[in-house]
Amino acid sequence: MIEPFDDAYYMKKALQEAEAAYEKGEVPIGAVIVIQGRVIARAHNLTEQLNDVTAHAEMQAITAAANFLGGKYLQNCTLYATLEPCQMCAGALYWSQISKIVYAAKDPQRGCGVMGTKLHPKTEMVGGLMENEASDLLKRFFNERRKNK
Ligand SMILES: [Zn+2]
Repeated sequence: MIEPFDDAYYMKKALQEAEAAYEKGEVPIGAVIVIQGRVIARAHNLTEQLNDVTAHAEMQAITAAANFLGGKYLQNCTLYATLEPCQMCAGALYWSQISKIVYAAKDPQRGCGVMGTKLHPKTEMVGGLMENEASDLLKRFFNERRKNK
């Protein structure tokens, strides 16, 4: 099957979500979920607004995609996230049986890789796509937050 757009196209959408989080004073992380070339969920981190540590972009994207599909499994779906998923999100993605995860920046402290979180055997994961854009936004956010303290 020919995809109408490439991975970078969808990662840009995830980055737009991260920028929306940035504007709200949230840690700027965004995610979108795509099936057969179609974006079915877009979300960004809302842990401050919702006062909820589970309000990561990926968690909300999983819920929105399942609602859209009318089923809990995300087979044939790809998640694009601007940061490597943490162990909570990787755990949720495990249960979703999602086909593919593409992330931008690596999280060397709290990413699922360093935490040793297992993905579902059906899930393929690739990282590093547009990682400079994603990590620049995060750096800008944390630099500003430090200045304002
Ligand atoms: Zn997470």
